[in-house]
Amino acid sequence: MKNRAVFMTGLNKMEIRDVEVPKIKENEVLVKLEYVGICGSDVHYLEHGSIGDFVVNGDFILGHECAGEIVEIGSKVTDLQIGDKVALEPGCTCGQCEFCKNGKYNLCPDVEFLATPPYHGCLENYIAFPANMCFKLPDNITSKEGALVEPLAVGMHAAAQGNVKLGDSVIILGAGCIGLVTLLACKAYGATDITVVDVMQKRLDYAMKLGAT
Ligand SMILES: [Zn+2]
Ligand SMILES: [Zn+2]
Repeated sequence: MKNRAVFMTGLNKMEIRDVEVPKIKENEVLVKLEYVGICGSDVHYLEHGSIGDFVVNGDFILGHECAGEIVEIGSKVTDLQIGDKVALEPGCTCGQCEFCKNGKYNLCPDVEFLATPPYHGCLENYIAFPANMCFKLPDNITSKEGALVEPLAVGMHAAAQGNVKLGDSVIILGAGCIGLVTLLACKAYGATDITVVDVMQKRLDYAMKLGAT
């Protein structure tokens, strides 16, 4: 097994390097990554070296939207098997704090989020990951689609925050990946009149293709 990772080595500089295949712990699985999305945050780190308080220090692996196939399971993993296709939840959380216990683990103060300094991302062939942060994909979902579950979840959350309901009119500002998945989420929640705003025509065209009115 050969593992290669893509390191950001400076602003707008990237390099592919051989790295060790990670060893899994008893509650982890080894995932052979098949697709990794490129998020706006990855581009921002590459071009500017930081986002707010998160500063890239030294060589750094980007990427947090990913899916792949399980090739090894830890001794205490019972609900996943070798060969399962999974999408990875990029934020590994403590599981112990008030937020984690309430199911709002996205608010965990101790989250270790892929490709958010100091935690490396997943632009590599193999990653060891906690089994309880790997979500098994049904047979009718490809790992390419699985890599898009994380941005889709952002759109679902936006639609839920906006309390989008059957027959609603919605305006979405921006038709990048997140704007477009928000459009899909609003449609799924029943919105019938969806206006999408952007300054790039090709993005607007795509929004129309996906059901913007
Ligand atoms: Zn992202
Ligand atoms: Zn927590």
